[in-house]
Amino acid sequence: MALFPCSVCGQRKPGKLAALYNAWFDGQQNRTAYRQRVCLECLQASFVELFKKELGRETDDHACLHCGGNANGNSDAVYCTLYLPKEEPREFALLFCGECSPVVKDAFKTGAEPLADRGVSVRGPSPTAPQWGSALGL
Ligand SMILES: [Zn+2]
Ligand SMILES: [Zn+2]
Repeated sequence: MALFPCSVCGQRKPGKLAALYNAWFDGQQNRTAYRQRVCLECLQASFVELFKKELGRETDDHACLHCGGNANGNSDAVYCTLYLPKEEPREFALLFCGECSPVVKDAFKTGAEPLADRGVSVRGPSPTAPQWGSALGL
């Protein structure tokens, strides 16, 4: 039996759970991050489709992964790191339009535990780097 219940369905399944670290930024670049533990069935039912669509995305494709509409200029990203048991973590930057992102974020928050912002496990826009030039008076 898994040590923890699945965040989405709440059941304790035999074997291991995948872990999802999800993060996004609000308009002020404040980061919100959550961790979910997800069983195989819930991963397939709720998330895998998004990851597959993201993997198949062309570089100039700005379609919302949820509704398929053009999210160019009205986009919101969810940064996901997927830890499958015994596999290397995979990172995804999932693009959604402004209308879909609240719906999608709800799914990524289901049963999740909020994480303190340590800025390590999830990729995102880099934190403001110290300005060496101004510090050195250059
Ligand atoms: Zn589940
Ligand atoms: Zn959309």
